[in-house]
Amino acid sequence: MNRSTDLDSCARTALRLIGPDPANWVPDRQGIDHNVAIIGGGQTGCALAFALRRAGIGKVTVLDAAPDEQRAGIWLNAARMNLLRTPKTLPGPELGIPALSFQAWYEARHGQEAYTAIDRIRRTDWADYLSWYKRFLGINPRYQTRLDRIEPTGDHFKIHLQTPTGAVIETTRKIILATGFAGAGGRVIPDVLTAHLSPTCYAHTEDTIDFAALRGKTVGVIGAAASAFDAAGVALEHGAADVHLFARRDTIAAIPITRSRGFPGAYDNYHQLPNADRWHQAIRFFRAGSTPTTDAIERTVKYPNFHLHLSAPWTNATERGGKIESTVNGTTYRLDFVIAGTGYSGDLASRAELRDFTDQILLWRDRYTPPLAEQDEMLACYPYLGAGHEFLERTPGSSPMLQHIHVQNPAGFVSFGLPIGDVPSMKRDIPVIVGRISADLFQADLEVLRRRMTGDVAPDFSEALYRSAVR
Ligand SMILES: Cc1cc2nc3c(=O)[nH]c(=O)nc-3n(C[C@H](O)[C@H](O)[C@H](O)COP(=O)(O)OP(=O)(O)OC[C@H]3O[C@@H](n4cnc5c(N)ncnc54)[C@H](O)[C@@H]3O)c2cc1C
Repeated sequence: MNRSTDLDSCARTALRLIGPDPANWVPDRQGIDHNVAIIGGGQTGCALAFALRRAGIGKVTVLDAAPDEQRAGIWLNAARMNLLRTPKTLPGPELGIPALSFQAWYEARHGQEAYTAIDRIRRTDWADYLSWYKRFLGINPRYQTRLDRIEPTGDHFKIHLQTPTGAVIETTRKIILATGFAGAGGRVIPDVLTAHLSPTCYAHTEDTIDFAALRGKTVGVIGAAASAFDAAGVALEHGAADVHLFARRDTIAAIPITRSRGFPGAYDNYHQLPNADRWHQAIRFFRAGSTPTTDAIERTVKYPNFHLHLSAPWTNATERGGKIESTVNGTTYRLDFVIAGTGYSGDLASRAELRDFTDQILLWRDRYTPPLAEQDEMLACYPYLGAGHEFLERTPGSSPMLQHIHVQNPAGFVSFGLPIGDVPSMKRDIPVIVGRISADLFQADLEVLRRRMTGDVAPDFSEALYRSAVR
């Protein structure tokens, strides 16, 4: 028996010991296709699907716009680091079942010593583990299925989908947005690029980039967080002639500011903090900046043809003679390609699927006015989420269906703190979202369920079983 077979047998035993999946208890409703539509088939969407199944909530569909499993989620796509930032010991999608954990998966394949020896998890190992997780648990996202529009209709939603066979409309009672960074607002590409350069001159780190084509070329990278350094590292490894990384700050952000609240009490109870505390934490993070990992920096600085420019914001760009030119702090750089490692915004207004009700979603700016020294327009546009990660209405009573859209992506950053959607957030957030969905569906169907709970129950045995002993 090989190790991989061993692993599956441990995991199968674990599932057997927790008992069969409960039957779907949610009453069917005429005209409703799904009780829950999970948008996004990355790690978050798949773990949520498993948790809903264990809560006896059936008719759950998982949709993903990506062409296939390899292209879904970030791990084999936008993520280019060698090692996960997340410590290897943090719980993830196993949701409390040790045999489904990364550690169990890894040890079964490589042995306990090998697991002890790794400091952090290799990105590609994590992707392989997630692939196994989906396959083993029979979670099958519908790929090539993009959510284009959410249309609230009475007590449910119409979801407008683009599928391989064309546009279709399905109906669902609940929606979970497990759409990752891109779904939280969209990627940020500086105006200086979009306004002055043709789209073939640049890419965002989220894009598929043909790094082989950058061999022998001079590449500019704008931004200094992890994904910028990772992109620079990959370009160098693919033989770029020179890579120039331009950072706005005068030093690279090195303080992982959220670490001071990385203990369970702060993390688990974060949503109950007063608005002022949560806002202060968000501002603190924004001002400290997102830190690249040490190994992401080491990966680049070992190359003599890597050039780091600090206090070097781009203010101009032009195309001349087949090159991209930008003058930064008095020096003109001539580049073949530019990569924007400039992150993502939390601006819901840019999400087409929310257009029917974007202006009705309660935002932080509607709920909290920070002191002058802590004001920030961008943070103010983040949604002010309820305890079940649900959207709330700006005007009470105007859009009650909003509470049936649950958000588990970085749009929840100000409400729930970082990391949201990341591996460590699963332990806290998945049970909360599933608990709320269960409660809402139960309440909504109480009449039917009450009849079920007070209905006739057949006896397990008749009096004949004990009559002979009656004296
Ligand atoms: C460069 C980088 C490095 C990171 N490193 C780490 C790390 O080390 N550790 C960590 O815990 N986290 C890390 N993260 C955070 C990371 O995004 C999450 O941990 C992880 O990807 C979250 O998984 P997810 O399923 O929530 O989102 P994603 O992996 O982003 O998946 C979202 C899915 O939603 C789909 N989707 C989006 N919109 C639609 C739509 N309208 N219709 C249908 N489908 C849609 C997408 O196709 C995608 O497959 C990193 C993020 C980035 C960008």
